[in-house]
Amino acid sequence: MQEKRLPREYIRRIWRAIYEFGLLEPNDRILIGLSGGKDSLFLLYVMAVLREHPPFPFELGAVTVDMGFPENVNTATSEREALAQYCRDLDVPYIWVPTRIAEAALGISSDNRVTGKDPCARCSHFRRAVLAETAAKHGYQKLALGHHHDDAVETFLLSILYSGQIRTFTPKAHMDRSGITVIRPLCYLREHEVKKGIALTGLTPLASRCPLDCTSQRAVVKNLLRDLAHDNRFVYTNVAAAMRAGRPCELWPPVLRPQERRELNFGAWQHQPKRRKEEHVDDD
Ligand code: SF4
Repeated sequence: MQEKRLPREYIRRIWRAIYEFGLLEPNDRILIGLSGGKDSLFLLYVMAVLREHPPFPFELGAVTVDMGFPENVNTATSEREALAQYCRDLDVPYIWVPTRIAEAALGISSDNRVTGKDPCARCSHFRRAVLAETAAKHGYQKLALGHHHDDAVETFLLSILYSGQIRTFTPKAHMDRSGITVIRPLCYLREHEVKKGIALTGLTPLASRCPLDCTSQRAVVKNLLRDLAHDNRFVYTNVAAAMRAGRPCELWPPVLRPQERRELNFGAWQHQPKRRKEEHVDDD
């Protein structure tokens, strides 16, 4: 493999994230979630570069969770070999974990049709659980994921639009059950920068074999942001600013419980004629 290097601006922003969010500590053992897509491959490369001139020592490993998509015996073998080779080139120990997540989360049929409900949420949940379990089993304290800034902004909008919650993932998060800490060192890089970056590495991303890949809700939100940005170039940065704590935030008060609503009714109902009280139908 050619000499490992990255543009100075990339290194600056990755270290900014590391220091700002406390992502790395001396002697950390970090397992990289390596799906084979551009984001995780770029993260693998980035972490291998950082390890060469670190302010303190840390260890790396990489893991691929094989989702178990149909027709994958040959494809999976060649993917596994390709990823294992990349890891060997970068001197990163590699683990491959076969699973049946495609069947369990997507309800995928033999002709690759998705029949399950809410497949992306279930898929992410199962995959994260396998990643955390593997990290704990092999003695890693941290799990590094390749999410970039666009992922965080899209997740923020997805949450509002599809689950009515104002939230997104954080650059660093502790998983209580496994005791593993998830870190996202690429969180200050935009997706187009990751695309440019992977081209510099000589690594070739694998195509996703998920049948939902381009039709998921995330793809819809990505297109929405892109279309809105045609009319107003500040749309992306405005949404990104809104996802940071400390921004002006004026929300309606929480929805009251039925009892609270009754109590807030100033006792007006008590003054109604008896007949009206009896006719009252509680629509809660
Ligand atoms: S697009 Fe496919 S691989 Fe990605 S979260 Fe959804 S189901 Fe899982």
